[in-house]
Order: sequence, then C-alpha cells, then structure tokens
Amino acid sequence: MPVSMSDSELRERFGSRPDLADVAAYGAPQLDVAVRLNTNESPYPPPKDFMEDLGRSVANLGLNRYPDRDFPALREGLARHVGTLTERIWVANGSNEIIQQLVQAFGGSERKAMTFEPTYAMHSHITRVSGTRFIRARRNPDFTMDLDASLSAIGLSQPEIIFLCSPNNPTGTVIPDEDVAAICDAAPGLVILDEAYAEFSGGSLWRLVEDYEHLVVVRTFSKAWRMAGARIGYMVAQGSVVKEVLKVRLPYHLSSLTQAAGLTALAHAGELTATVETIRHERDRLWNELSTTRGITAFPSRANFILFRCESAPAPEVWRRLLERGVLVRDFSSTQGCDGCLRVSVGTADQDEKFLEALSASLR
Ligand code: PMP
Repeated sequence: MPVSMSDSELRERFGSRPDLADVAAYGAPQLDVAVRLNTNESPYPPPKDFMEDLGRSVANLGLNRYPDRDFPALREGLARHVGTLTERIWVANGSNEIIQQLVQAFGGSERKAMTFEPTYAMHSHITRVSGTRFIRARRNPDFTMDLDASLSAIGLSQPEIIFLCSPNNPTGTVIPDEDVAAICDAAPGLVILDEAYAEFSGGSLWRLVEDYEHLVVVRTFSKAWRMAGARIGYMVAQGSVVKEVLKVRLPYHLSSLTQAAGLTALAHAGELTATVETIRHERDRLWNELSTTRGITAFPSRANFILFRCESAPAPEVWRRLLERGVLVRDFSSTQGCDGCLRVSVGTADQDEKFLEALSASLR
C-alpha cells in the first residue's frame, strides 16, 4: 500500500465522503513565539489558589470508574451561578462540542443551517461535517447585521438551524438585543446564539431562553474564565432541547477531570473572571492605538480581540513580518468580507505594546 494517497485516490479506494473533498481541517497555527495573540485566549493564566484547589480535587478522583454521565453536581453549580434551573444547563468539551451536539441533534441531510458571514468558521464547518445543508447569508460591509435582509433570508430559506454570534468572531460586532428577539420571532427552528465572548461585551441574553423555547445560548470557560486548556463549554436552553442533545452525546463524554475542573472553577468564579475588566480596558486602549496608526483601519470590537484592515501593505505580508518579530496574529484576508484583514487578540499591556511596535515596523 502506498505510504500516502491523494484525497481522490482515498475516495476511490475507500469511499470517503465526496462532500468533504474541499473541507479543510481547522488549523490556526500553534507556533512557539514570544507573543501569541492569535486564538483569543486569555493572556493571564488562572490564579495559583485555583490551580492548587484543582490539584487537590483531581488527587481525590476515582479514575478507575467512569464519570457520572449526567454530571448533576456541575450542572447544579452552573445553574446556580447563571441563575437558572439545572434542567436548562448542559456541558461539553468546549462550546465547539456543544455546537456539534446541537447540530447532530437538530440538523441532518434533509435540513439546513444558516450563518451570517463573516462569522466563526466552526459554525459552517460543523454544519458541513454533520451532513447538514449550509446556507450562507451575509452581514453588511461594516459587519453589522441588516435585520430586514436577515429576516428575508430566513423567510426565504426556512432554515431548521440559525447561528448567531454576539460578539461576533472575527469582527467583534454585537447584535442588538431587539434584533436577536426579532430573529427568534421569525425563526422556523432552532436559534443557536454563540456568546463565547459575552463577558467582554457586558451582557448575556440567556434570559431570552425563558421566552423562546427554540433558543439556545452557548457559552464557554475558554475566554473570560481563562481556561481554554480545560475544554469546558455549556449551553442554557429549555429542558426539552437538553433532552434532544442527550440522544446524540457520547456516553461519559465529560471526563471526571473536566467535571472537577468545572466545579473548582465555580468555587473560584470571582477570581477567575476578575481579569475581564482589565482586558476590556486594554482592548479599548489597543483600539485607540490602532485607529490612529497610518495604513490601518480598526473595526470597533466588544470582544477580547480586534479585527483590522491593512490598507497600505498586503495583509499576509504584514502577518509574516509580525511573525518574524515574534508576534503571532490571525490572518483573515482570505475570508470573504475580511479582505486585507488581520485579527489580534488582546494581550497584556506589555504584549500589546510589542505587537504595536512590531506592527509599525512591519508597515514601514
Ligand atoms: N464560539 C466562538 C465564537 C469562538 O470564537 C470559539 C473559540 N475560538 C468557540 C465558540 C469555541 O470555543 P471553545 O470550544 O474553546 O469553548
């Protein structure tokens, strides 16, 4: 057997899925550089107290046994933290897995999911990989959503799943509350509101779940909670939606280690999220700096990252020059609507200074 086969040879010999032929694996570069500002993580590791407590709770786990399949303690704790009922909470390995479970439960080959682009690439990726039909609607050139156009697109296509993302990745744009409600009113099926960055914009719309039984609000511990490495995401939804998700989740999907990390995090919620204010402040400072940099157009952001357009040099070239100077950002220039754009995650003041210096040098 040949050591490596081309995709088309593989398809021919083993019947791999033709609909995945042009799907690329997720691949934000993971490079060991001094200043990593490319995946919207927190620049601040979790505090020592939390790590010590986590070590103690992990030391007491009975790892020979499978974890509790329905993790009631974590769901109860999270419900208390959010202020809702335990039956409305569900947890998985990052919000990506939550989204995957939702699409598995509510999508399928006879069904359609709609996104408003440019937006978080995993929404369309998970849709396609699950065999669900994908419909791409668009945002305005300034990345706001045109409510009338969005409602017409929904009316025309009648998608069984609608993805909203607020603040939106990679643009940082917030969808006004009343527009989310208007979309829920018009939606013929499930509305998935991805709020991975809601802590940085100051508010979550999870309470709308009480009015709209087809709304799911998806959140994560990866950003504001500084725990991207722990892989914890959750959703707030009606119990009936959670019951549907139970049908598709793998048995014991949430390891004992993850459950312990989640419970320990809840006991340290205040400390863990205490850096949100610093990051918001630093984001606004960075935005001011970028907006007064010649050759750059910075888009307003309510998240922990900023999208900016390079007007005076090709973006991939600026990306490469930044990397040569030890600064890694994300290149979005080949994403439709984001031509010429790079995205920088908000770092510490020191990291952001290094980024700004490297950017000025890269634009010269
Ligand atoms: N949603 C959005 C909008 C994101 O930007 C990300 C991470 N980049 C995720 C979900 C997934 O985060 P996680 O799986 O780490 O919770």
